[in-house]
Amino acid sequence: MNIVELNNCPCGTEMSYAQCCEPFHNGTDFPRTAQTLMRSRYSAYVVKNADYLLATWHKTTRPNEIDFSQDHTMWQKLVILHTKKGGVNDDKGRVEFNAFYVQDGEERLIHEISRFKKINGRWFYVDGVLD
Ligand SMILES: [Zn+2]
Repeated sequence: MNIVELNNCPCGTEMSYAQCCEPFHNGTDFPRTAQTLMRSRYSAYVVKNADYLLATWHKTTRPNEIDFSQDHTMWQKLVILHTKKGGVNDDKGRVEFNAFYVQDGEERLIHEISRFKKINGRWFYVDGVLD
């Protein structure tokens, strides 16, 4: 996907990518809440920004690398279903979401409850429960 053509941010806000997740992806700003981090990580999957995904992954669960070269997932949209804690004054949070995508011509969705932790003011993705 051509990043320049993203008028609306892939994470589903009404803002442009430049006003929403791009500053997180290029390191000029950082998410203040677990939900904002969750959104920015979804956007990072859309624009295939492996560095950002690794940088926001908790060190205890972080993979060694993320390889998008064989990835043909076409992300459609993110729907946040529920958020528990994860606010500016919290240091833990959970975000439940549906992420819709097309793979091999089939529409699918991921339903996950992700857990996040804040360390030194920065939110990190810890892990998620799929069902
Ligand atoms: Zn966004």
